[in-house]
Amino acid sequence: MIIVMKKDADEDKIQHVIERVESKGLEAVLLRGEKRNVIAAIGDKREIPTDYWLAIPGVEKTVPILTKYKLASREVSPRTTPVRINDTSVGGDSLSIIAGPCTVESMEQTLSVARAVKANGAVALRGGAYKPRTSPYSFRGLETEGLEILAEARRLTGLPVITEVLCPEDVGLVYQYADVMQVGARNMQNYSLLDELGRYDKPVLLKRGISATIEEMLLAAEYILRTGNAGVILCLRGIRTFEDHTRFTLSIGALAHLKQVTHLPVIVDPSHPAGDSSLVPPLAKAAVAAGADGLMVEVHPDPENAYVDGAQSLTPEGFEKLMAELRPIAQAVERDIKV
Ligand code: PEP
Ligand code: MN
Repeated sequence: MIIVMKKDADEDKIQHVIERVESKGLEAVLLRGEKRNVIAAIGDKREIPTDYWLAIPGVEKTVPILTKYKLASREVSPRTTPVRINDTSVGGDSLSIIAGPCTVESMEQTLSVARAVKANGAVALRGGAYKPRTSPYSFRGLETEGLEILAEARRLTGLPVITEVLCPEDVGLVYQYADVMQVGARNMQNYSLLDELGRYDKPVLLKRGISATIEEMLLAAEYILRTGNAGVILCLRGIRTFEDHTRFTLSIGALAHLKQVTHLPVIVDPSHPAGDSSLVPPLAKAAVAAGADGLMVEVHPDPENAYVDGAQSLTPEGFEKLMAELRPIAQAVERDIKV
């Protein structure tokens, strides 16, 4: 069950509700939202009458949650809950376009992408300092140096930075540099990583595992939410199917479904399912048309010589063209693009 607090309920009232929840033998999880706070009461089958909760000062209503994922469910909030990233947020009326190189290779490469994508309306820079690679012999990222380059790119451009964290031990370090911590597809069900991220107060971008169902993805989000971190952004990036004409299969149906069942913002990465830069714009457009809250696109100044994922990376010019093509599609679905 979710207890929705009134907009003006102060900290004392929130703490009082938490005490009452715990006194009933339930676990209380407080989720602080931009507009209002909710408290999830988890773990008990006994019926406690709704009136019991409604009589407590500051409580607006209670909502029974029937899905396995409690805090991620749209029953918590009929509207998408925006996730704040510094001065911007993902999940409002405008679309958030995030862009950057797959991998941070150098200061020069990262800055040139950051400047180009910012000039064309990107709201955040994404680049990997720690890369999960299929082969241990592939380039695995500049690690701490990569984090420093991202922080410098943020200082020079003002763009918040998003970067992947691979294991629980690295969360403290990545947290010091990143504005959003990314969980890659291969780690979607790394539960100790999810638990650890739940203890921090910066947003998490959670990518769908390549063979994960939507329910599994939402339960992975639940791990982060239930430890107290309300800032979860979901990212679809294609799954593995029998199709072999694209690198992965991007399910637009999954996007439409997610928008119905969760209040968390959902963005789409069109680059990894495409695997080929010529397929990125149509996938990006389809995602915007189907209601994505944003996109995360790989852009590289010299895709041919990129260390990782060059074939699917747009050039800065390609990104500029895509942004121009996305605007009328966004308008057609009553969204605009944040700048
Ligand atoms: C990436 O975002 O560059 C990446 C490695 O993505 P995924 O985890 O979706 O494969
Ligand atoms: Mn990549």
